[in-house]
Amino acid sequence: MLVMKFGGTSVGSAARIRQVATLVQEAAGREPVVVVVSAVSGVTDGLIAAARDAAGRQRLEALQRVIQLQGKHAEILYGLDLPAEMQQSVADELHPLWVELENFIHSVGVLGELTRRTLDYISSLGERLSCRLVAATLRAAGQAAEAVDATRVVVTDSTFGNAFPLMDATRARATAVLAPLLAAGRVPVITGFIGANADGIVTTLGRGGSDYSAAILGRALDAREVIIWTDVDGVMTANPRVVPEARTLPQLSYLEAAEMSYFGAKVLHPKTIAPAVEGGIPVRIKNTFAPESPGTLITAQPPPADASIRAITAISRLALLTLQGKGMVGLPGVAARLFSTIAQEGINVLMISQSSSEYNICVLIEEAYAAQAQAAIERQFALEQAQGLIEGQTVRTGVSIVAVIGAGMRGKPAVTGQVFLALAGTAIEVLAIAQGSSELNLSFVIASTQEDAAVRAIHQHFDLGR
Ligand code: ADP
Ligand code: ASP
Ligand code: MG
Repeated sequence: MLVMKFGGTSVGSAARIRQVATLVQEAAGREPVVVVVSAVSGVTDGLIAAARDAAGRQRLEALQRVIQLQGKHAEILYGLDLPAEMQQSVADELHPLWVELENFIHSVGVLGELTRRTLDYISSLGERLSCRLVAATLRAAGQAAEAVDATRVVVTDSTFGNAFPLMDATRARATAVLAPLLAAGRVPVITGFIGANADGIVTTLGRGGSDYSAAILGRALDAREVIIWTDVDGVMTANPRVVPEARTLPQLSYLEAAEMSYFGAKVLHPKTIAPAVEGGIPVRIKNTFAPESPGTLITAQPPPADASIRAITAISRLALLTLQGKGMVGLPGVAARLFSTIAQEGINVLMISQSSSEYNICVLIEEAYAAQAQAAIERQFALEQAQGLIEGQTVRTGVSIVAVIGAGMRGKPAVTGQVFLALAGTAIEVLAIAQGSSELNLSFVIASTQEDAAVRAIHQHFDLGR
Protein backbone atom coordinates (compact mmCIF):
# COMPACT_ATOMS: atom_id res chain seq x y z
CA MET A 1 0.00 0.00 0.00
CA LEU A 2 1.23 3.40 -1.00
CA VAL A 3 0.34 6.87 0.36
CA MET A 4 0.64 9.69 -2.18
CA LYS A 5 0.34 13.25 -0.85
CA PHE A 6 -0.11 16.21 -3.18
CA GLY A 7 0.65 19.75 -1.99
CA GLY A 8 -1.15 23.00 -2.76
CA THR A 9 0.64 23.83 -6.01
CA SER A 10 0.21 20.24 -7.21
CA VAL A 11 -3.57 20.74 -7.06
CA GLY A 12 -3.35 24.45 -7.92
CA SER A 13 -5.17 24.38 -11.27
CA ALA A 14 -7.32 22.12 -13.42
CA ALA A 15 -4.29 21.09 -15.51
CA ARG A 16 -2.36 20.19 -12.38
CA ILE A 17 -5.21 18.18 -10.93
CA ARG A 18 -5.39 16.21 -14.18
CA GLN A 19 -1.65 15.54 -13.85
CA VAL A 20 -2.28 14.31 -10.28
CA ALA A 21 -4.98 11.97 -11.59
CA THR A 22 -2.54 10.54 -14.15
CA LEU A 23 0.10 9.89 -11.48
CA VAL A 24 -2.42 8.29 -9.12
CA GLN A 25 -3.94 6.14 -11.83
CA GLU A 26 -0.53 4.80 -12.84
CA ALA A 27 0.32 3.90 -9.25
CA ALA A 28 -3.12 2.46 -8.51
CA GLY A 29 -2.63 0.05 -11.41
CA ARG A 30 0.23 -1.51 -9.46
CA GLU A 31 -0.89 -1.46 -5.83
CA PRO A 32 -3.54 -0.02 -3.48
CA VAL A 33 -3.12 3.75 -3.11
CA VAL A 34 -4.34 6.27 -0.55
CA VAL A 35 -4.24 9.86 -1.79
CA VAL A 36 -3.83 12.78 0.63
CA VAL A 37 -4.42 16.29 -0.68
CA SER A 38 -3.74 19.84 0.46
CA ALA A 39 -6.03 22.74 -0.23
CA VAL A 40 -5.55 24.49 -3.57
CA SER A 41 -2.54 26.79 -3.11
CA GLY A 42 -3.41 30.06 -1.41
CA VAL A 43 -6.81 28.82 -0.22
CA THR A 44 -5.92 28.17 3.44
CA ASP A 45 -4.38 31.65 3.61
CA GLY A 46 -7.55 33.07 2.04
CA LEU A 47 -9.85 31.28 4.48
CA ILE A 48 -7.83 32.44 7.49
CA ALA A 49 -7.77 36.01 6.17
CA ALA A 50 -11.55 35.95 5.65
CA ALA A 51 -12.07 34.69 9.21
CA ARG A 52 -9.80 37.41 10.63
CA ASP A 53 -11.51 40.10 8.57
CA ALA A 54 -14.89 38.95 9.84
CA ALA A 55 -13.66 38.96 13.44
CA GLY A 56 -12.34 42.49 12.90
CA ARG A 57 -15.75 43.57 11.61
CA GLN A 58 -14.40 43.98 8.07
CA ARG A 59 -17.41 42.13 6.74
CA LEU A 60 -17.24 43.39 3.21
CA GLU A 61 -13.60 42.37 2.91
CA ALA A 62 -14.41 38.94 4.37
CA LEU A 63 -17.23 38.43 1.90
CA GLN A 64 -15.03 39.53 -0.96
CA ARG A 65 -12.48 36.90 0.01
CA VAL A 66 -15.15 34.21 0.13
CA ILE A 67 -16.30 35.19 -3.35
CA GLN A 68 -12.71 35.09 -4.58
CA LEU A 69 -12.30 31.57 -3.20
CA GLN A 70 -15.55 30.47 -4.80
CA GLY A 71 -14.38 31.89 -8.12
CA LYS A 72 -11.07 30.08 -7.88
CA HIS A 73 -12.74 26.71 -7.28
CA ALA A 74 -15.39 27.31 -9.94
CA GLU A 75 -12.64 28.06 -12.46
CA ILE A 76 -10.87 24.83 -11.60
CA LEU A 77 -14.10 22.84 -11.72
CA TYR A 78 -14.94 24.17 -15.19
CA GLY A 79 -11.36 23.65 -16.33
CA LEU A 80 -11.51 19.97 -15.40
CA ASP A 81 -13.77 19.35 -18.42
CA LEU A 82 -15.84 16.78 -16.60
CA PRO A 83 -18.92 15.38 -18.33
CA ALA A 84 -21.82 17.83 -17.73
CA GLU A 85 -23.67 15.56 -15.31
CA MET A 86 -20.57 14.96 -13.27
CA GLN A 87 -19.70 18.64 -13.19
CA GLN A 88 -23.13 19.37 -11.77
CA SER A 89 -22.84 16.67 -9.13
CA VAL A 90 -19.44 18.00 -7.98
CA ALA A 91 -20.90 21.51 -7.80
CA ASP A 92 -23.71 20.03 -5.68
CA GLU A 93 -21.11 18.37 -3.45
CA LEU A 94 -19.23 21.64 -2.94
CA HIS A 95 -22.32 23.75 -2.38
CA PRO A 96 -23.00 22.80 1.28
CA LEU A 97 -19.35 23.55 2.08
CA TRP A 98 -19.74 27.08 0.74
CA VAL A 99 -22.94 27.50 2.73
CA GLU A 100 -21.09 26.38 5.86
CA LEU A 101 -18.30 28.85 5.14
CA GLU A 102 -20.73 31.73 4.68
CA ASN A 103 -22.56 30.82 7.88
CA PHE A 104 -19.35 30.62 9.87
CA ILE A 105 -18.02 33.88 8.48
CA HIS A 106 -21.34 35.51 9.28
CA SER A 107 -21.31 34.19 12.87
CA VAL A 108 -17.73 35.30 13.44
CA GLY A 109 -18.71 38.72 12.11
CA VAL A 110 -21.68 38.96 14.48
CA LEU A 111 -19.65 37.86 17.51
CA GLY A 112 -16.59 39.87 16.51
CA GLU A 113 -14.59 37.01 17.99
CA LEU A 114 -12.57 34.20 16.43
CA THR A 115 -11.67 31.25 18.64
CA ARG A 116 -8.99 28.75 17.65
CA ARG A 117 -11.69 26.13 17.37
CA THR A 118 -13.70 28.21 14.90
CA LEU A 119 -10.57 29.12 12.95
CA ASP A 120 -9.77 25.41 12.60
CA TYR A 121 -13.23 24.74 11.29
CA ILE A 122 -13.00 27.52 8.73
CA SER A 123 -9.47 26.61 7.60
CA SER A 124 -10.46 22.94 7.21
CA LEU A 125 -12.69 23.82 4.28
CA GLY A 126 -9.82 24.20 1.78
CA GLU A 127 -8.93 20.51 1.93
CA ARG A 128 -12.58 19.46 2.06
CA LEU A 129 -13.12 21.29 -1.23
CA SER A 130 -9.96 20.14 -3.02
CA CYS A 131 -10.37 16.44 -2.18
CA ARG A 132 -13.73 16.41 -3.93
CA LEU A 133 -12.25 17.96 -7.08
CA VAL A 134 -9.43 15.41 -7.15
CA ALA A 135 -11.72 12.43 -6.51
CA ALA A 136 -14.07 13.52 -9.31
CA THR A 137 -11.16 13.93 -11.73
CA LEU A 138 -10.03 10.40 -10.96
CA ARG A 139 -13.51 9.03 -11.52
CA ALA A 140 -13.80 10.91 -14.81
CA ALA A 141 -10.51 9.28 -15.86
CA GLY A 142 -12.00 5.87 -15.12
CA GLN A 143 -10.41 5.28 -11.74
CA ALA A 144 -12.83 4.45 -8.92
CA ALA A 145 -12.22 7.01 -6.18
CA GLU A 146 -13.96 8.53 -3.19
CA ALA A 147 -13.46 11.80 -1.33
CA VAL A 148 -12.99 11.22 2.41
CA ASP A 149 -12.92 13.88 5.13
CA ALA A 150 -10.10 13.09 7.54
CA THR A 151 -12.44 14.11 10.35
CA ARG A 152 -13.76 10.55 10.00
CA VAL A 153 -10.29 9.01 10.21
CA VAL A 154 -7.62 11.08 11.97
CA VAL A 155 -8.49 11.29 15.67
CA THR A 156 -6.61 14.01 17.55
CA ASP A 157 -6.47 15.70 20.92
CA SER A 158 -8.17 19.10 21.24
CA THR A 159 -5.17 21.36 20.70
CA PHE A 160 -6.84 23.45 18.02
CA GLY A 161 -4.37 24.79 15.48
CA ASN A 162 -1.70 22.28 16.41
CA ALA A 163 -3.50 19.04 17.19
CA PHE A 164 -1.73 15.83 18.13
CA PRO A 165 -2.92 12.57 16.56
CA LEU A 166 -4.13 9.72 18.77
CA MET A 167 -2.62 6.81 16.88
CA ASP A 168 -4.58 3.86 18.30
CA ALA A 169 -7.93 5.48 17.60
CA THR A 170 -6.71 6.65 14.18
CA ARG A 171 -5.55 3.17 13.26
CA ALA A 172 -8.94 1.73 14.18
CA ARG A 173 -10.74 4.35 12.09
CA ALA A 174 -8.38 3.95 9.15
CA THR A 175 -9.07 0.23 9.17
CA ALA A 176 -12.82 0.78 9.39
CA VAL A 177 -13.13 3.59 6.85
CA LEU A 178 -10.26 3.21 4.37
CA ALA A 179 -9.49 -0.51 4.27
CA PRO A 180 -12.90 -1.46 2.75
CA LEU A 181 -12.43 1.17 0.02
CA LEU A 182 -8.97 -0.19 -0.78
CA ALA A 183 -10.27 -3.75 -0.79
CA ALA A 184 -12.92 -2.70 -3.32
CA GLY A 185 -10.29 -1.15 -5.59
CA ARG A 186 -11.41 2.39 -4.83
CA VAL A 187 -8.85 5.12 -4.18
CA PRO A 188 -9.65 7.14 -1.04
CA VAL A 189 -8.82 10.82 -1.63
CA ILE A 190 -8.49 12.11 1.89
CA THR A 191 -8.06 15.63 3.21
CA GLY A 192 -4.64 16.48 4.60
CA PHE A 193 -4.11 18.98 7.42
CA ILE A 194 -7.28 18.19 9.37
CA GLY A 195 -8.68 15.73 11.87
CA ALA A 196 -11.28 15.72 14.61
CA ASN A 197 -11.15 15.21 18.36
CA ALA A 198 -12.98 12.36 20.09
CA ASP A 199 -16.17 14.46 20.09
CA GLY A 200 -15.96 14.92 16.33
CA ILE A 201 -14.97 18.61 16.52
CA VAL A 202 -12.70 19.60 13.61
CA THR A 203 -9.03 20.22 14.44
CA THR A 204 -5.99 21.07 12.32
CA LEU A 205 -2.47 19.73 12.61
CA GLY A 206 -0.68 23.07 12.06
CA ARG A 207 0.18 25.00 8.91
CA GLY A 208 1.75 22.84 6.22
CA GLY A 209 0.39 19.81 8.09
CA SER A 210 -0.74 17.75 5.10
CA ASP A 211 2.70 16.12 4.98
CA TYR A 212 2.13 15.07 8.57
CA SER A 213 -1.33 13.70 7.65
CA ALA A 214 0.29 11.53 4.98
CA ALA A 215 2.77 10.10 7.47
CA ILE A 216 0.04 9.52 10.10
CA LEU A 217 -2.08 7.62 7.58
CA GLY A 218 0.96 5.73 6.28
CA ARG A 219 1.67 4.60 9.82
CA ALA A 220 -1.95 3.76 10.57
CA LEU A 221 -2.22 1.61 7.43
CA ASP A 222 1.33 0.17 7.52
CA ALA A 223 2.13 1.69 4.14
CA ARG A 224 5.07 0.42 2.11
CA GLU A 225 6.08 4.01 1.36
CA VAL A 226 4.82 7.60 1.67
CA ILE A 227 5.43 9.83 -1.33
CA ILE A 228 5.21 13.60 -0.81
CA TRP A 229 4.55 15.15 -4.24
CA THR A 230 5.50 18.82 -4.36
CA ASP A 231 6.80 21.58 -6.66
CA VAL A 232 10.54 20.93 -6.37
CA ASP A 233 12.68 17.89 -7.26
CA GLY A 234 13.15 16.82 -3.65
CA VAL A 235 14.91 17.94 -0.51
CA MET A 236 17.68 20.20 -1.71
CA THR A 237 20.99 21.47 -0.35
CA ALA A 238 19.24 24.81 0.31
CA ASN A 239 15.95 26.51 -0.52
CA PRO A 240 16.14 26.77 -4.33
CA ARG A 241 14.36 30.13 -4.14
CA VAL A 242 17.37 31.49 -2.25
CA VAL A 243 20.16 29.47 -3.83
CA PRO A 244 19.39 28.79 -7.51
CA GLU A 245 22.28 26.31 -7.83
CA ALA A 246 20.96 24.18 -4.93
CA ARG A 247 21.12 20.46 -5.71
CA THR A 248 18.63 17.69 -4.92
CA LEU A 249 19.81 15.26 -2.27
CA PRO A 250 19.14 11.71 -3.51
CA GLN A 251 19.08 10.17 -0.01
CA LEU A 252 18.76 11.41 3.55
CA SER A 253 18.43 9.81 6.96
CA TYR A 254 15.29 10.35 9.04
CA LEU A 255 17.44 12.32 11.48
CA GLU A 256 18.84 14.62 8.83
CA ALA A 257 15.44 15.19 7.25
CA ALA A 258 13.86 15.90 10.65
CA GLU A 259 16.64 18.33 11.51
CA MET A 260 16.30 20.11 8.16
CA SER A 261 12.54 20.48 8.42
CA TYR A 262 12.76 21.56 12.04
CA PHE A 263 15.22 24.27 11.04
CA GLY A 264 13.18 25.70 8.21
CA ALA A 265 13.19 23.47 5.09
CA LYS A 266 9.52 24.02 4.26
CA VAL A 267 9.48 21.14 1.78
CA LEU A 268 8.66 18.77 4.67
CA HIS A 269 6.51 19.54 7.73
CA PRO A 270 8.68 19.05 10.85
CA LYS A 271 6.38 16.44 12.41
CA THR A 272 6.25 14.21 9.32
CA ILE A 273 9.26 12.12 10.18
CA ALA A 274 8.12 10.83 13.59
CA PRO A 275 5.36 8.46 12.38
CA ALA A 276 7.62 7.31 9.54
CA VAL A 277 10.40 6.44 12.01
CA GLU A 278 7.96 4.57 14.26
CA GLY A 279 6.68 2.52 11.35
CA GLY A 280 10.05 2.26 9.55
CA ILE A 281 8.28 3.67 6.49
CA PRO A 282 10.44 5.21 3.74
CA VAL A 283 9.41 8.75 2.78
CA ARG A 284 10.05 9.90 -0.78
CA ILE A 285 9.84 13.50 -1.99
CA LYS A 286 9.01 13.91 -5.66
CA ASN A 287 8.17 16.66 -8.12
CA THR A 288 4.65 16.59 -9.61
CA PHE A 289 5.97 18.65 -12.51
CA ALA A 290 8.92 16.33 -13.19
CA PRO A 291 7.80 12.86 -12.08
CA GLU A 292 10.71 11.26 -13.93
CA SER A 293 13.22 12.87 -11.53
CA PRO A 294 14.24 10.37 -8.85
CA GLY A 295 13.52 12.76 -5.96
CA THR A 296 14.79 12.26 -2.41
CA LEU A 297 14.47 9.02 -0.46
CA ILE A 298 14.42 9.32 3.33
CA THR A 299 15.15 6.17 5.33
CA ALA A 300 16.71 5.12 8.64
CA GLN A 301 20.11 4.35 7.23
CA PRO A 302 20.97 5.69 3.83
CA PRO A 303 24.44 5.00 2.42
CA PRO A 304 26.98 7.32 4.05
CA ALA A 305 27.28 10.72 2.41
CA ASP A 306 30.59 11.74 0.87
CA ALA A 307 30.42 15.32 2.11
CA SER A 308 30.54 16.46 5.73
CA ILE A 309 27.67 18.89 5.40
CA ARG A 310 24.51 18.22 3.47
CA ALA A 311 22.34 21.28 3.55
CA ILE A 312 21.76 24.75 4.89
CA THR A 313 18.38 25.88 6.16
CA ALA A 314 17.05 29.01 7.82
CA ILE A 315 14.12 30.21 9.91
CA SER A 316 13.22 33.89 9.97
CA ARG A 317 10.98 36.16 12.05
CA LEU A 318 12.55 35.15 15.34
CA ALA A 319 13.47 37.04 18.47
CA LEU A 320 16.66 36.67 20.48
CA LEU A 321 16.03 37.09 24.20
CA THR A 322 19.10 37.56 26.35
CA LEU A 323 19.09 37.46 30.12
CA GLN A 324 22.25 38.87 31.63
CA GLY A 325 23.91 39.83 34.86
CA LYS A 326 27.17 39.22 36.68
CA GLY A 327 25.21 37.86 39.61
CA MET A 328 24.00 34.99 37.47
CA VAL A 329 27.40 33.31 37.76
CA GLY A 330 26.84 30.42 40.10
CA LEU A 331 23.24 31.34 40.81
CA PRO A 332 21.67 27.90 40.58
CA GLY A 333 18.61 27.18 38.53
CA VAL A 334 18.45 30.40 36.49
CA ALA A 335 18.45 28.58 33.17
CA ALA A 336 15.83 26.09 34.35
CA ARG A 337 13.58 28.89 35.59
CA LEU A 338 14.03 30.82 32.36
CA PHE A 339 13.03 27.84 30.23
CA SER A 340 10.09 26.82 32.39
CA THR A 341 8.80 30.40 32.42
CA ILE A 342 8.77 30.43 28.63
CA ALA A 343 7.30 26.93 28.46
CA GLN A 344 4.47 27.89 30.84
CA GLU A 345 3.46 30.55 28.35
CA GLY A 346 3.16 27.80 25.74
CA ILE A 347 6.01 29.31 23.73
CA ASN A 348 8.40 27.07 21.84
CA VAL A 349 12.15 27.61 22.28
CA LEU A 350 14.01 27.00 19.02
CA MET A 351 17.56 27.39 20.22
CA ILE A 352 19.50 28.02 23.42
CA SER A 353 22.95 29.42 23.85
CA GLN A 354 24.81 30.10 27.07
CA SER A 355 28.23 31.64 27.40
CA SER A 356 30.65 29.62 29.53
CA SER A 357 31.07 32.50 31.94
CA GLU A 358 27.31 32.18 32.56
CA TYR A 359 27.19 35.94 32.22
CA ASN A 360 24.24 35.57 29.90
CA ILE A 361 21.75 33.09 28.49
CA CYS A 362 20.12 33.48 25.07
CA VAL A 363 16.95 31.85 23.81
CA LEU A 364 15.38 32.04 20.37
CA ILE A 365 11.62 32.15 20.03
CA GLU A 366 9.14 33.21 17.37
CA GLU A 367 9.04 36.98 17.05
CA ALA A 368 5.26 37.06 17.53
CA TYR A 369 5.67 35.87 21.13
CA ALA A 370 8.53 38.21 22.08
CA ALA A 371 6.48 40.67 24.13
CA GLN A 372 4.61 37.90 25.95
CA ALA A 373 7.85 36.09 26.84
CA GLN A 374 9.54 39.29 27.90
CA ALA A 375 6.73 40.17 30.31
CA ALA A 376 6.71 36.69 31.85
CA ILE A 377 10.50 36.72 32.35
CA GLU A 378 10.29 40.18 33.87
CA ARG A 379 7.82 38.89 36.48
CA GLN A 380 9.80 35.71 37.15
CA PHE A 381 13.10 37.47 37.86
CA ALA A 382 11.76 40.67 39.48
CA LEU A 383 13.42 39.84 42.81
CA GLU A 384 16.86 39.04 41.35
CA GLN A 385 16.66 42.19 39.31
CA ALA A 386 15.80 44.29 42.34
CA GLN A 387 18.79 42.74 44.13
CA GLY A 388 21.03 43.55 41.17
CA LEU A 389 21.88 39.86 40.55
CA ILE A 390 20.35 40.11 37.11
CA GLU A 391 20.84 43.24 35.06
CA GLY A 392 17.84 42.53 32.92
CA GLN A 393 16.95 41.22 29.52
CA THR A 394 17.40 42.47 26.03
CA VAL A 395 15.21 41.47 23.13
CA ARG A 396 16.25 41.64 19.53
CA THR A 397 13.60 40.94 16.92
CA GLY A 398 14.13 40.47 13.19
CA VAL A 399 16.66 37.70 13.59
CA SER A 400 17.06 34.33 11.86
CA ILE A 401 18.58 30.99 12.71
CA VAL A 402 20.78 29.56 9.99
CA ALA A 403 21.44 25.83 10.41
CA VAL A 404 24.15 23.78 8.75
CA ILE A 405 23.12 20.13 8.70
CA GLY A 406 24.73 16.80 7.95
CA ALA A 407 25.44 13.48 9.67
CA GLY A 408 28.97 13.70 8.28
CA MET A 409 29.76 16.62 10.61
CA ARG A 410 29.99 14.21 13.53
CA GLY A 411 33.49 14.12 14.96
CA LYS A 412 34.76 16.73 12.52
CA PRO A 413 35.25 19.90 14.56
CA ALA A 414 37.09 21.54 11.65
CA VAL A 415 33.76 21.87 9.84
CA THR A 416 32.63 24.46 12.39
CA GLY A 417 35.68 26.54 11.59
CA GLN A 418 34.98 26.24 7.88
CA VAL A 419 31.41 27.47 8.34
CA PHE A 420 32.53 30.64 10.05
CA LEU A 421 35.38 31.06 7.60
CA ALA A 422 32.75 31.13 4.88
CA LEU A 423 31.17 34.13 6.63
CA ALA A 424 34.48 35.86 7.29
CA GLY A 425 34.54 37.65 3.97
CA THR A 426 31.02 39.00 4.46
CA ALA A 427 29.85 41.70 6.85
CA ILE A 428 27.62 39.21 8.66
CA GLU A 429 27.62 39.51 12.43
CA VAL A 430 26.94 36.27 14.32
CA LEU A 431 24.82 37.01 17.41
CA ALA A 432 24.76 33.54 19.01
CA ILE A 433 25.89 30.01 18.23
CA ALA A 434 24.63 26.57 19.24
CA GLN A 435 25.60 23.07 18.32
CA GLY A 436 23.03 20.32 18.70
CA SER A 437 24.14 17.45 20.90
CA SER A 438 23.48 15.16 17.94
CA GLU A 439 26.40 16.91 16.20
CA LEU A 440 24.20 16.79 13.15
CA ASN A 441 23.61 20.47 13.25
CA LEU A 442 25.46 23.71 13.78
CA SER A 443 23.17 26.68 14.11
CA PHE A 444 23.78 30.37 14.58
CA VAL A 445 21.76 33.55 14.81
CA ILE A 446 22.07 36.58 12.53
CA ALA A 447 19.95 39.55 11.48
CA SER A 448 17.22 38.38 9.07
CA THR A 449 18.38 40.95 6.52
CA GLN A 450 21.57 38.88 6.19
CA GLU A 451 19.92 35.47 6.11
CA ASP A 452 20.01 34.86 2.36
CA ALA A 453 23.57 36.15 2.06
CA ALA A 454 24.74 33.80 4.82
CA VAL A 455 23.03 30.78 3.27
CA ARG A 456 24.54 31.57 -0.14
CA ALA A 457 28.04 32.16 1.27
CA ILE A 458 28.14 28.80 3.08
CA HIS A 459 26.57 26.95 0.15
CA GLN A 460 29.24 28.38 -2.11
CA HIS A 461 32.13 27.80 0.32
CA PHE A 462 31.29 24.09 0.65
CA ASP A 463 30.51 23.87 -3.08
CA LEU A 464 27.21 22.10 -2.32
CA GLY A 465 25.83 22.75 -5.80
CA ARG A 466 28.46 20.61 -7.53
P1 ADP B 1 3.59 21.89 -0.89
O1 ADP B 1 2.55 22.91 -1.20
O2 ADP B 1 3.76 20.87 -1.97
O3 ADP B 1 3.43 21.28 0.47
P2 ADP B 1 5.61 23.67 0.13
O4 ADP B 1 5.54 25.05 -0.43
O5 ADP B 1 5.05 23.46 1.49
O6 ADP B 1 4.97 22.68 -0.93
O7 ADP B 1 7.13 23.17 0.14
C1 ADP B 1 7.91 23.20 -1.04
C2 ADP B 1 8.78 24.43 -1.05
O8 ADP B 1 9.74 24.32 0.00
C3 ADP B 1 9.64 24.62 -2.27
O9 ADP B 1 8.95 25.26 -3.31
C4 ADP B 1 10.83 25.43 -1.76
O10 ADP B 1 10.68 26.79 -2.05
C5 ADP B 1 10.76 25.27 -0.25
N1 ADP B 1 12.02 24.80 0.33
C6 ADP B 1 12.65 25.39 1.38
N2 ADP B 1 13.79 24.74 1.68
C7 ADP B 1 13.91 23.72 0.81
C8 ADP B 1 14.88 22.70 0.60
N3 ADP B 1 15.98 22.59 1.37
N4 ADP B 1 14.68 21.82 -0.39
C9 ADP B 1 13.56 21.91 -1.17
N5 ADP B 1 12.63 22.85 -1.04
C10 ADP B 1 12.78 23.75 -0.05
N1 ASP C 1 -3.43 23.69 3.42
C1 ASP C 1 -2.67 23.68 4.66
C2 ASP C 1 -1.79 24.91 4.76
O1 ASP C 1 -1.76 25.71 3.83
C3 ASP C 1 -1.89 22.41 4.84
C4 ASP C 1 -0.83 22.10 3.80
O2 ASP C 1 -0.84 22.70 2.72
O3 ASP C 1 -0.01 21.22 4.05
O4 ASP C 1 -1.17 25.10 5.77
MG1 MG D 1 3.92 21.97 2.42
